[in-house]
Amino acid sequence: MAFPGWSATPAEKRSQIMLKIASMIESRMTELTEAECLDNGKPLWLARAVDIPRARDNFKFFATAILHEANEAHQTDHTAINYTYYTPVGVVGCISPWNLPLYLFTWKIAPAIAAGCCVVAKPSEVTPMTAYLLSEICKDAGLPAGVLNIVHGLGPKVGNAITEHPDIKAISFTGGTKTGAEIARKAAPVFKKLSLELGGKNPNIIFADCDFDAMLKTTIQSSFSNQGQICLCGSRIFVEESIYEKFKSAFVERVKELKVGDPLLEDTRVGAIVSKPHFEKILSYIELAKEEGGTILAGGNAVVPEGRCSNGYFIEPTVIDGLPYTCRTNQEEIFGPVVTITSFKNEEELLEMANSTMYGLSATIWTTNLQKAHRVAHNVHSGIIWINCWLLRDLRTPFGGMKSSGVGREGGFEALNFFREIKNICIKL
Ligand code: NAD
Repeated sequence: MAFPGWSATPAEKRSQIMLKIASMIESRMTELTEAECLDNGKPLWLARAVDIPRARDNFKFFATAILHEANEAHQTDHTAINYTYYTPVGVVGCISPWNLPLYLFTWKIAPAIAAGCCVVAKPSEVTPMTAYLLSEICKDAGLPAGVLNIVHGLGPKVGNAITEHPDIKAISFTGGTKTGAEIARKAAPVFKKLSLELGGKNPNIIFADCDFDAMLKTTIQSSFSNQGQICLCGSRIFVEESIYEKFKSAFVERVKELKVGDPLLEDTRVGAIVSKPHFEKILSYIELAKEEGGTILAGGNAVVPEGRCSNGYFIEPTVIDGLPYTCRTNQEEIFGPVVTITSFKNEEELLEMANSTMYGLSATIWTTNLQKAHRVAHNVHSGIIWINCWLLRDLRTPFGGMKSSGVGREGGFEALNFFREIKNICIKL
């Protein structure tokens, strides 16, 4: 019953409720920030600077987007006029991962409810806290009952039930590529709309003519933010041969300075790994890298901090070189504080290596040569390219990956239209 009611609610009213949700996220910022930090292990300052403000902004962005839309019309010579008509898909499923819990959960929910859909949403079972708090906020903000239904539970049970339910018409999923394939297998025979945001193994490409200091500062962030547990982290660093040694020593020196430990401390740069299984997975990849002939230049070990976090899961930020680009360490997603560095001689060799994985989510390019920047950006097989920056986000831009990094794009009107059926109406003149 919630669906026809919500889809018939005027955009202005839907917008007002969503803006109320945004302002209540703002007023509960401290509580949400602490919950995210304790649940996920990310540094408190990061949750405060990025995760929770972005959750607020997701609601604001889509709440206001629906107030400024126009439909397209196509005139067919002098014979007909076509106009495009949008209707919400219906009840949709949103399934999200643990790495940016509230940030990614709301990145799906906000466009869905803005478009007039009702949502069955499942946060990761690993990080459920802020999704629970969001349910309180939505109630207090006056979101009608049934518009957003947050269901907690394990992926194969609850996530699978959402995927298979015949009344759920679209699934927006962010998570691992394997899980995405499983969801696609179940959803395809019943022709559910699917948006899949999956894994990455992103190249960070550093040319000799880059602004070295800016590159170094940002490369520390793109390598180790959120303990490397961001799908957009640049885990394969490719450095032009002539500055390889200079980069290696400067980077390793900076990495060794990063403080690993209690996520509640303001000077912590690398917090906890999200769970024991994930901690063990990352360490197993470091072992694999050694077996594959890699040299550990920095890190490589688990850390046991003193005090409150002594039984937590911490890993030193780790830098490895000496590996062939084709080896498993360089081809599989590790999703932790582990990067490899590899030198390249020319663009041809670089593109061969950069494009060699099954993934194609994002890439970063560092150069002051504009033509080269565009040329390489056009030739790297990734859906999102940053030139001389990283994770600089504009919520209007299409967000998503190529190859096994996903299907479809989120962000802006792409996201709103995913949650809509698009109809063409042709009128003969
Ligand atoms: P995951 O695939 O294990 O889980 C993601 C979500 O799917 C969770 O809510 C989980 O409960 C659910 N799930 C698990 N099995 C399911 C099933 N059979 N049916 C339906 N739902 C199921 O991923 P994760 O470990 O939580 O997250 C890490 C992964 O997410 C990494 O691969 C990372 O690259 C990816 N990621 C991608 C993006 C992106 O935008 N492309 C963003 C963040 C994370």
